Amino acid sequence: MTARERKTKVSAFTGKGRLFRKYYLIVSSVFIICIILTGGLTLLFISQYWTQANRGSLLNDSMSVASMVERFADSGLLFNKADITSGERLREFIAVSLKTTSDSSGSDVFIIRPDGTVDLCKEMVSEDVTRYPGEFECEIHSDIVFPQSFTETLWRGDTYTLYGDLPGVYSEKVFLAAAPIMARGQYWGAVVSVQSVRSVLTTFILDFLKLILIAMGIALVISFVTVYFLVYSITKPLSEMSDAARQYSNGDFSARVKVRGDDEMSSLCRSFNKMADSLEAMEASRSSFVSNVSHELRTPMTNISGFVQSILDGTCPESQRREKLNIIKSEVERMSRLVTSMLNLSRIEAGALKLEPRRFNLTELIFTTALGFEKSISEKNIDMVGLDKLPPIEVCADADMINQVLFNLIENAVKYTPEGNSIEIRAEKRAGTVYVDVVNHGIGIPEDECRMIFERFYKVDKSRSVNARSVGLGLYIVKTLIGLHNGTINVTSDGKTYTCFTFTLPPADKTAASNN
Ligand code: ADP
Repeated sequence: MTARERKTKVSAFTGKGRLFRKYYLIVSSVFIICIILTGGLTLLFISQYWTQANRGSLLNDSMSVASMVERFADSGLLFNKADITSGERLREFIAVSLKTTSDSSGSDVFIIRPDGTVDLCKEMVSEDVTRYPGEFECEIHSDIVFPQSFTETLWRGDTYTLYGDLPGVYSEKVFLAAAPIMARGQYWGAVVSVQSVRSVLTTFILDFLKLILIAMGIALVISFVTVYFLVYSITKPLSEMSDAARQYSNGDFSARVKVRGDDEMSSLCRSFNKMADSLEAMEASRSSFVSNVSHELRTPMTNISGFVQSILDGTCPESQRREKLNIIKSEVERMSRLVTSMLNLSRIEAGALKLEPRRFNLTELIFTTALGFEKSISEKNIDMVGLDKLPPIEVCADADMINQVLFNLIENAVKYTPEGNSIEIRAEKRAGTVYVDVVNHGIGIPEDECRMIFERFYKVDKSRSVNARSVGLGLYIVKTLIGLHNGTINVTSDGKTYTCFTFTLPPADKTAASNN
């Protein structure tokens, strides 16, 4: 294993490989950008909304004070030259109202005269009840003179609002709202409410920013944790798959990926594990195939070499030579059968054997195939039953393949039927499906082995003398060929005297459909 591979393995093991870091960084950055954007836009929106609302509330303050002053002015008390004391007391009352309004709204509320100078402000409120506002000059407001351009609107009886600076009066940005005092059809001045944008907005933004930052912090922590687990749940199976694939490439198919949850990723993991199962099975089957083939070839070759050697060096007596040569002949035949079966098998497995279905008479095929065993049947004095009772059955299948199936089944039946016993072949068509039974009375197959005999190289009880000629590929080929036709093959046996192989061929349209 290279250093690079080792490094990847370690980081993949902890689930924090490069992919994890990459995705975690990307998704976290997207989250951070989104949260900052949301916070920023919310702040902007709230500031604008607040600015509008603030302007409205300033104007309301100015208008309510103005309407109060108008009522006093209308009553004539405010400017009653004959009763200066009551007028001054009222002005003091108004100054107190200005102070109350200023304090509650955080603004500077004052009254200006028609010429734009300040007449009354909250600073003129005194603890000393003997002093009137008129006797006091405010240091803050005494220098303020609103320009004509400002008072013009008020003269007309209209309100005035401003968000910005007012040259000559306010050099910094302010919120300003002014409401005219109109009494007895005349302009008496105006109530002005002013707030410094910087101080108010800065306090507001800072307060809001604090809240936003706390919310953003919480959102970020939650999103970091969520993203961590999210990305981990995606990359962990991937890194496990990568580790497993590395093991497979070294020939070890034991590793499996853990399946978590029930989503696309878990279904990918399940498919991956399934693929690993088939790879493992294929590998096992490949190695067992190789060892089986080697074993099947080595035994006859050892026998042949031994016998030939004994004939050549003269250790084999003349009288036994013929018998030994016959054994050599049968071993060569067995090897030839094995090679033919393996060739057929490899053609089937490579998909080289294509199904070429055509209509033909199955009964005729059964007859001709069985006829091919006439010699061995009569040698073993086997009674062939049922051939004369077969109904004419037409099927749509690959005749060569079905011929091979029948050949293998009848060959086995003849092989495993002791002398003087019987073989029965039955065939019928039910609901479009063809059923063929090849029954032989002989040694039978133990029940627990019935499932296995269709496996490659499987032989029942290898010690049986009759099995010495067997290679264990015939039934595997039968099963594969019937499978190509979408049919089924089964075996039933009492384990002692009776064996019945039944194969089915589905209706013609199903055979064709399965091969399209
Ligand atoms: P082979 O082609 O070498 O005969 P098969 O795959 O056809 O191998 O058979 C596998 C095993 O199944 C045989 O070794 C035999 O033990 C058993 N078998 C097959 N057919 C019969 C049968 N008709 N009666 C009893 N045993 C059978």
